[in-house]
Amino acid sequence: MMKRRLFLRQLGGGALLAGATLGAGCSDKDQPAAASAEKTSFEPVQWKMVTTWPKNFPGLGTGANFLADLITRMSGGRIQVKVFGSNELVPAFGVFDAVSRGTAQLGHGSAYYWKGKSEAAQFFSAVPFGLTADEMNAWLYHGGGMELWQETYARFGLVPLAAGNTGVQMAGWFNKEINSIDDLRGLKMRIPGLGGEVLARAGGTPVSLPGGELFTSLQSGAIDATEWVGPYNDLAFGFYKVAKYYYYPGWHEPGTTLECMVNQKAYEALPEDLQVIVSNAARVANQDMQTEYIARNNQALQTLVNQHNVEVRRLPDTVLERLRGLSADVVAELADKDPLSRRVYESFEAFRSQVIQWSNISERAYLNARGG
Ligand code: CA
Repeated sequence: MMKRRLFLRQLGGGALLAGATLGAGCSDKDQPAAASAEKTSFEPVQWKMVTTWPKNFPGLGTGANFLADLITRMSGGRIQVKVFGSNELVPAFGVFDAVSRGTAQLGHGSAYYWKGKSEAAQFFSAVPFGLTADEMNAWLYHGGGMELWQETYARFGLVPLAAGNTGVQMAGWFNKEINSIDDLRGLKMRIPGLGGEVLARAGGTPVSLPGGELFTSLQSGAIDATEWVGPYNDLAFGFYKVAKYYYYPGWHEPGTTLECMVNQKAYEALPEDLQVIVSNAARVANQDMQTEYIARNNQALQTLVNQHNVEVRRLPDTVLERLRGLSADVVAELADKDPLSRRVYESFEAFRSQVIQWSNISERAYLNARGG
């Protein structure tokens, strides 16, 4: 029953409109009156949104601000959301527990940070050689992904919402050339989630660190290399000052979904119209961030190359092929961790293997036809 309700409330505007029309057709006059009474009796609430990002960090932190502001304004101030940067209320990696406990009502991060809570969570942010941003949203909204994500978080008292996407990331910043897979051997690199596990299989040492610690770690030599996001965010952290080569493509994060998790009790205490506002505000934020990244990455790449003389390099095909093979192993093994991970894996893989066929004759064919 609960699952069904959440699912219905995350449907887009078209479905909501269809529902309203259906209601009118049945002349159920009690419904609008009941909804209106519920609306007026609701006391405004103050919600806290804790985030895994430095306060106001371009794209990620500002994306959290955008969503908080949208919820506040769309609700007419009935939900007032205050945003906290990492370490202001809780540390970056304390966000999941804080929202689960109800210390905060909202959390902004990415699901692969919580693999210690649930291995299956990793499928809902990024899978190496997995889905692009558009494909990811297609799986989440129209391919069964969202229901599986809700199931994954339900046992922690959380309702997940997709709330942003970075698009394809960059492979990262290195101080040595990567010419063969052996160049990754012994490399201590910040790379979270499944990508990190793939690096480990290639002989490297993956490190998981919050964004705010990356520059100094790279500068001091505590790590040899780092990935973060893409030109827009990487320029903001100034990695070009401490690393020589900027490699692409981001094989490990082909379209990373950011999340907004909602404390389930707080969500269920809302009248229906506010639940619809919260879930659809996240949907708007999801799309807004994706388009912002395309626009800003493009500008920032020009700045990195033309003003800071960054060397942008493509990972050799032989390296990508090897990483692709290792990734398939890592992702398949993730499915063996527990029954839920198995079901998420099967849904994800079935969608991926089918959507590749359409993407090949649509996006890929067009990009090839357009030329460079
Ligand atoms: Ca990343």
